[in-house]
Amino acid sequence: MDLRLSGRVAIVGGASKGIGLATARMLAAEGARVVIAARTAATLEAAIASIRADVPGADVVAVPCDMASAADIERLVQTTAERFGAIDIVVNNAGGPPPGTFEQHADDAWLGAFDQNLMSVVRLTRAALPWLQRSDQARVINITSTAVREPIEGLILSNAVRLGTTGLAKTLSKELGPRGITVNNVGPGLTLTGRIRPVLEAQARASGRTFDDVAAERAERIPTGRMGEPEDVAAMIVFLASAQARQVSGQTILVDGGATSASL
Ligand code: NAP
Repeated sequence: MDLRLSGRVAIVGGASKGIGLATARMLAAEGARVVIAARTAATLEAAIASIRADVPGADVVAVPCDMASAADIERLVQTTAERFGAIDIVVNNAGGPPPGTFEQHADDAWLGAFDQNLMSVVRLTRAALPWLQRSDQARVINITSTAVREPIEGLILSNAVRLGTTGLAKTLSKELGPRGITVNNVGPGLTLTGRIRPVLEAQARASGRTFDDVAAERAERIPTGRMGEPEDVAAMIVFLASAQARQVSGQTILVDGGATSASL
């Protein structure tokens, strides 16, 4: 199936590692021109090298950007527009907010999560909008979490703030649909990335077990019997970016191996 991504211009946030990097690599393999953003220049350069190693000739550019910063996001969009003269696809992604319970977080943590995980979606989508509405395959895809369906214990910031993105995307799908722009959310379940590996390693140390034991136990709780890999989530994002996904908008699609129990 030709996803009609060849030559399309995509901005992928949080793309030096994990789900963002897998998405950038897959988009590049489909022939898209990709701008990858993250805070750390050195890991961004390593990400570019690894994409080019896998996808010879990939047209990939790195722009250091903190998604919590309005000025950085403006610069990201400006740099993309100057380099490619178009923006077709925006993948709103950044790191998750820190773990903790209600009484462990003061205002600065709440405001940080708000900036990084909700205002980033508002700001990047808004800055890219003049370009998106010129595209005949315009896509906004936000990475959230299964926490929007079932709150995750110990992740109150994520549980609260990500629901804002759910409401934002549903509203935007109605406001921007007439301009040919689809807006969707992808919610990963447990996916083995650099964010999750240290959590499982810490659990293994604390319980005197091996990493493999802890990982196997977590995998058993998932109906498919395995933890997700970044490519599992990336494949859904890439499909939503495709021409074939033109009728899918305003949705939150979980990639969790069936682990979430909520029916809707
Ligand atoms: P990851 O492997 O830790 O990668 C995070 C990426 O985002 C890195 O490239 C990181 O680079 C970048 N990043 C972090 N904060 C950023 C910021 N403020 N501005 C720009 N870039 C930023 O994470 P992941 O597992 O792929 O997770 C991606 C998203 O999915 C997160 O929001 C996470 O909470 C969510 N999610 C993940 C899972 C899972 O099991 N993995 C489950 C549910 C939801 P720098 O640090 O250099 O900026």
